[in-house]
Amino acid sequence: MYGNIVLVNGRDNLGRGDKMNIIQVYQRFPSHESCLKHLEKIRWHGKPVCPYCKSDNSSPLPKELRHHCNTCNTSYSVTVGTIFHKTKIDLQKWFAAISLVLNAKKEISSRQLAVHIEVNKNTGWYLTMRIRRALAEQPGLLQRIVEDKEAYIGGKTN
Ligand SMILES: [Zn+2]
Repeated sequence: MYGNIVLVNGRDNLGRGDKMNIIQVYQRFPSHESCLKHLEKIRWHGKPVCPYCKSDNSSPLPKELRHHCNTCNTSYSVTVGTIFHKTKIDLQKWFAAISLVLNAKKEISSRQLAVHIEVNKNTGWYLTMRIRRALAEQPGLLQRIVEDKEAYIGGKTN
C-alpha cells in the first residue's frame, strides 16, 4: 500500500495523505514519549523488533523508554536505524520540522525552519539537511509520521 509514493507539494500520488501542520503535530504528540509511541506504531506495529539481531523476543524497559532484547541481550530504542538516532533534538521538534518540510510548497530554508520551531540556525540547518537526505532514503517513514490518518481512515477498515 505504501509502495512508490511520490510526493508532489506535500501530497502523495495516491491523492491522499494530508499532512499535519506543526500545530497538529504538537497537539497530537504533546511529549517526547508520545512521539516515541507513535514511531513504535509506525515501525513495529506494536511488536518491538531488535535492530541488531531482528528478534522480537523483548522485554519493555518503560523507565528508559527502551526495550531489552532477550536474544542478543542488548537494549534498544525505536529510533535506532532512523534519522532520529543519537540526536539530542527533541522528537517533537523533529516531527514538526518534518511537517514543515513536507508541507512546504517550495523548499523551506533552514533559516525559516529554525524560526518556526525555535531552534538556532545551526540546528535548523542540520535538521533540514537530515530530513532532505532521509526523504530520499526512508520516504515512507517520514511520510507516515505526519500523515493525517483521520483524513482517510475509513478506507482502511477492511
Ligand atoms: Zn537482539
